[in-house]
Amino acid sequence: MSPSAPEIEDRVRDVLDRIAREAGRAGRSPDSVRLVAVSKTVEPGRICRAAVAGAGLFGENYIQEARDKIAELSDLAVSWHFTGHLQTNKVRYAVRLFDLIHTVASLRLAVEIDHRARLENKVQDILVQVNVSGEEAKDGIAPEEAEALVRKIADLAHVRLRGLMTMPPYNHAPKDSRPHFAALAALARSLDGLSIPGVQMNELSMGMSHDFPVAIQEGATLVRVGTALFGERS
Ligand SMILES: *Cc1c(COP(=O)(O)O)cnc(C)c1O
Repeated sequence: MSPSAPEIEDRVRDVLDRIAREAGRAGRSPDSVRLVAVSKTVEPGRICRAAVAGAGLFGENYIQEARDKIAELSDLAVSWHFTGHLQTNKVRYAVRLFDLIHTVASLRLAVEIDHRARLENKVQDILVQVNVSGEEAKDGIAPEEAEALVRKIADLAHVRLRGLMTMPPYNHAPKDSRPHFAALAALARSLDGLSIPGVQMNELSMGMSHDFPVAIQEGATLVRVGTALFGERS
C-alpha cells in the first residue's frame, strides 16, 4: 500500500457511512443493511483493526484459514459468516465456526449441515445461493429450482433458512448488476409468499465492493465487501 492510501479504519468508516447513506436514500433504515467485511487472505491484525473501527461481521471463504484466524481472534466480539464454496467434508468445521453460511446450493449440502448441526446441538442459519444470471461458471442453483430446494430445507430441524444470496458476473458498470439483484429480491418475495413453515426470507446477501450501493437500492440486507476495506488481495 502506498503511504497515501487510506488506513483501514478510514475505509471501514467510509463504507459504513456509504451503506447508511444509501439505505437512507432508498427509504430504508440504516440498520436494515449490515456490512459483511470479507476478510479472506487478510491477516488477523488487520481484521482486528477493522473490528475496532466498527465492522462487526466478517466473511471468510476458506475453512482452514478461517479456523486459524478465528482461534487467534477469539477475544473479538464479532460474528463470522462463511462466504466461500463449502465442500461436504468441511461442513463439520463450518458449523462450529460460523453464525451464517451464505452459500448453500444443494440439498446434499443442506442435509450434511443439518446432520453436523445436530451433533453440535445447534440450529445452523443458512442462505440459499442462487445463480440468477445463469452464468455457467457460477455456483448457485437456478431460480426455478429454488422452491423445491427451499421446501426440502424446511423439513430439516437443525437448519434455519434465513434468505438468499447471489453473486452476479463481474460487471464493470455497477448498474449492470441491478437486474440480477432485482431478480434475487423478486425470487425472495415469491418464496416468502408461499408461507412455508420455518422458512424466512429476511436476508438478501448481495453486493460487493464495486456494486453494493446498487444492491442496497434493490433490497440487500447483507453486503459483502472486501477490497474496498482491505485493498486488493494478493
Ligand atoms: C471475495 C468475495 C467478496 C468480496 O469481493 P470484493 O470485490 O473484494 O468486495 C464478496 N462475496 C464473495 C462470495 C466473495 O468470495
